[in-house]
Amino acid sequence: MALKLYDSLSRSPRELRRPDPTDPKDIFTFYNCGPTVYAPAHIGNFRTNVVNDVIRRLLELEFGQDKVKHVRNLTDVDDKTIRRAREEGRPLAEVTKQWTDKFHADCKALNLLSPHVEPTATGHVKEQVDMIEVLMEKGNAYRAADGSVYFKVASFDNYGRLSRVKERELKQGSAFASGNTGKDTTSVDADEKEDATDFALWKAHKPEDGENAWDSPWGRGRPGWHIECSAMSKKHLGDTIDLHTGGVDLLFPHHENEIAQSECCNGTTFARHWYHSEHLLVDGKKMSKSLGNLYTLEDITRLMGYHPAELRVALLSSHPRKQLNFTVESLHAARANLGHYDTVNQYLQFHSKGQKAKPAPEFLAVIEALNDDLNTPHALGLLSTALKSVKPLGEDSTERFASQYAGLQLVLFAFGFYFPVALAKAEAPAEVVSLAEQRWAAKQSKDFATADKLRADLTSAGWSMLDRKDGYSLEPLKKA
Ligand code: AMP
Ligand code: ZN
Repeated sequence: MALKLYDSLSRSPRELRRPDPTDPKDIFTFYNCGPTVYAPAHIGNFRTNVVNDVIRRLLELEFGQDKVKHVRNLTDVDDKTIRRAREEGRPLAEVTKQWTDKFHADCKALNLLSPHVEPTATGHVKEQVDMIEVLMEKGNAYRAADGSVYFKVASFDNYGRLSRVKERELKQGSAFASGNTGKDTTSVDADEKEDATDFALWKAHKPEDGENAWDSPWGRGRPGWHIECSAMSKKHLGDTIDLHTGGVDLLFPHHENEIAQSECCNGTTFARHWYHSEHLLVDGKKMSKSLGNLYTLEDITRLMGYHPAELRVALLSSHPRKQLNFTVESLHAARANLGHYDTVNQYLQFHSKGQKAKPAPEFLAVIEALNDDLNTPHALGLLSTALKSVKPLGEDSTERFASQYAGLQLVLFAFGFYFPVALAKAEAPAEVVSLAEQRWAAKQSKDFATADKLRADLTSAGWSMLDRKDGYSLEPLKKA
């Protein structure tokens, strides 16, 4: 079955297709709205990123690794990043680099494939200005007295098609109460706009922006948040993208505004397919600092003692288009499941004796369930059924094991699941792995004195060893 995803614009599941599969140069283009780099990302952000990563993996399985181009931006200038830099008395670029590096480290720990291009808003000011100029020429934008430039929503007939905001407006009153800015909320002067629904493309410089301003035909200032994605996707993926994704909170106004800007500027469809994943809740509530239920990856690993690989399993345990209620129990269940996958994987690797084979149908069924609008709960159910069928049948089961092993590799790739011990061994230097293995053996035989001595040796070598019931993981110690 071809990969099918729910399309938020047509409100139906649709197959994803390459525009022209007969053309070998034709590739599938995939854009996600990336993080705002002013603080560590939380596990809700990572749910969205992990779901996007599974989509990327399924696209690669469907079209081929070299036929997919994935772009995810970094929002490195907006109200929040500027505010953070000001509060800390540091240059904006220094603050955003710190949080970009942290985001990359977290993505690596969660086994996310890197996007092919990761453009930054500050690196694409010219592209954003160019687009705004076209919108001005075409009459879709206007300059206000203070030097800000706004998009004239009334100039785009299709405005509201994605979010059905106009219908909702009529029924519920103003959806534009926040000034149509989305998360980039503060520096918009509502009095400057011709209409409350209009949104900023260019924000004139204000004293609180400090030195974070660029020259433009309308005076010094900085780009609005929405134009960033329109300009960066145009530059790196062309005028029409095959798939655009993000969390549900971005549907309105961010994605609605991206469509308006891009379609008015380019005169063609902006994205052929839109996919939005639902939010993560913690203990049934929206995550927020004030409720004390906002978790970062660091909280999950250092405070709660779980591995990022286990978090990844927990994040994929419920349907991506349904809210995920995150609990400590869900991490516990993820640990047990991942341990089971690891055990069967090792069993199959050993018993397939290096034979190559086609993936077994019971594992292909798991991929089919993922291809059916990312039905992860069904896919995980089918995976556990497939794993139950792993047992010797008849005299020589090598061929069968080989085909199950090939099937399991495919499933592990699609989900992006991986095993902490294997990872630790792959990343740590050989002598560190050797110390860890000796310590593990000492602990198993209850020789705790030797185990303690070996832990001290590991610490001196700059590594910490985390014990768990069925294995261990190794992590480099942070330098003070
Ligand atoms: P931000 O850094 O706020 O721009 O968010 C980055 C991504 O995380 C966007 O795709 C958001 O839709 C998504 N996101 C934000 N909060 C949550 C949440 N609680 N659960 C899932 N995704 C979220
Ligand atoms: Zn965006």
